[in-house]
Amino acid sequence: MTEYKIVDPTTNALVRRYPTSDDATVDRAIAAAAEEFAQWRRRPIKERADAVLAVSREFEHRRADLAAIITREMGKTTREALAEVDLSAAIFAYYAEHGPDFAADQRLDIRGGDDVVVRCEPLGALLGVMPWNYPYYQVARFAAPNLVLGNTVILKHAPSCPESAQAIEDIMRAAGLPAGAYVNVYASNEQVARAIADPRVHGVSLTGSERAGRAVGEVAGRHLKKYVLELGGSDPFIVLPDADLQAAVSAAVEGRMGNAGQACTASKRFIVVDPLYDRFLDAFTAAVRGLTIGDPTDDSVSFGPLSSEEAARTVIAQVRDAVEQGATAVAGGSRPARGGAFVEPTVLTGVTPAMRAYREEIFGPVAVVHRVPDTATAIRLANDTPYGLGSVVFGRDIAAAKAVGDALDVGMVSINGPSGTQEDLPFGGVKLSGVGRELGSYGMNEFVNRKVIRVR
Ligand code: NAP
Repeated sequence: MTEYKIVDPTTNALVRRYPTSDDATVDRAIAAAAEEFAQWRRRPIKERADAVLAVSREFEHRRADLAAIITREMGKTTREALAEVDLSAAIFAYYAEHGPDFAADQRLDIRGGDDVVVRCEPLGALLGVMPWNYPYYQVARFAAPNLVLGNTVILKHAPSCPESAQAIEDIMRAAGLPAGAYVNVYASNEQVARAIADPRVHGVSLTGSERAGRAVGEVAGRHLKKYVLELGGSDPFIVLPDADLQAAVSAAVEGRMGNAGQACTASKRFIVVDPLYDRFLDAFTAAVRGLTIGDPTDDSVSFGPLSSEEAARTVIAQVRDAVEQGATAVAGGSRPARGGAFVEPTVLTGVTPAMRAYREEIFGPVAVVHRVPDTATAIRLANDTPYGLGSVVFGRDIAAAKAVGDALDVGMVSINGPSGTQEDLPFGGVKLSGVGRELGSYGMNEFVNRKVIRVR
């Protein structure tokens, strides 16, 4: 049973419960989005882009309040919450500015010389199913391009983020979008399945776990609905023998510990080619031991709690499983002696394929560091995962680092810097990390009818 409620993970105290939508409310949301589509799609694209620009401005105006909401809901630091609000504003502004060009007619030069145009038409009402780890950003990268394109959005957020979910709908209204263009629902998974099957809904985008992706993809497939799935990752971070050690260590700390380790594209497996292994491990472990955890509203802490007590227990169970089977926690490895969903920043070595930490995604502040004898073994180990989202390669010889990137079965490669996301950089993965792409021009390429018009 889905229960929408805010439990502040800094204290594990219940803040507020929200009622789950009943079936009639979900039905009204679908009807509103489907009915509005008929008008929204006919507006000039410039008008839709202007409305989306107003959404960006609202994010800017409400910056501090919006940040406080997600810190309370899922425990990210105020610093990171503000950065997320800014990024979300940038995404809405980016599609307001560039969306009309991305959606412009494309003229084709075909054999026979007929006048052919490919037009970008919206599909209809879309359902978004989103996770708690970046409550605004995940919604922004789905909603912004689709609203500019002329699709309408029904949004089901994670049950732990009801206040940010409502805040986004409030922003849409304040920006002047009609009520049916963007509707929030506090839906259950059963209601989501029925919504996907509903003929008034024309596609679904889910960001979340592989488990949720399979469930939603299965229903969408059965009903022949277009879907985009942005799922989990266990990203490799390869350190080649000629890497700049200090730069690699600081990128490793940032890439693993940002958002308390709860990012799909966090670097999770550090694969260090032998000559640098001991020096990398010493410097990385020292840096991780120097991190501080505490109240996320305190600017001096490195990170706060995990998103929930359950999330903290899952991560600690993965760490204990590894240690019980012979791995070593060279930093951290436990829960600190304080209330709240906290987990110590942890570094594990000696992780073998029999351990959960080898193959599962660890969604928390836990780094697994592997020693390998050569680059070929590093590539093999990096690819020995069911996931294929992002990756990082550190090495001074850029051509050699790029060649390693070419050999990785992933959607994204970052050379000599941590994985990052920005409004104009396409995002997505392969294997169990998902289907489809978001952001950049690719973000407008998914829920589109490319109508071919040929004048003979
Ligand atoms: P989650 O448990 O899969 O939840 C994500 C969303 O999916 C929630 O709204 C959830 O609602 C919903 N959901 C789950 N099962 C469902 C089902 N059977 N039918 C319909 N909806 C369902 O994921 P999470 O724990 O919130 O987020 C962490 C995961 O997201 C990690 O694996 C992370 O790597 C991944 N992630 C991926 C990306 C990316 O871009 N690739 C970005 C961020 C996060 P309920 O809780 O109500 O079930």
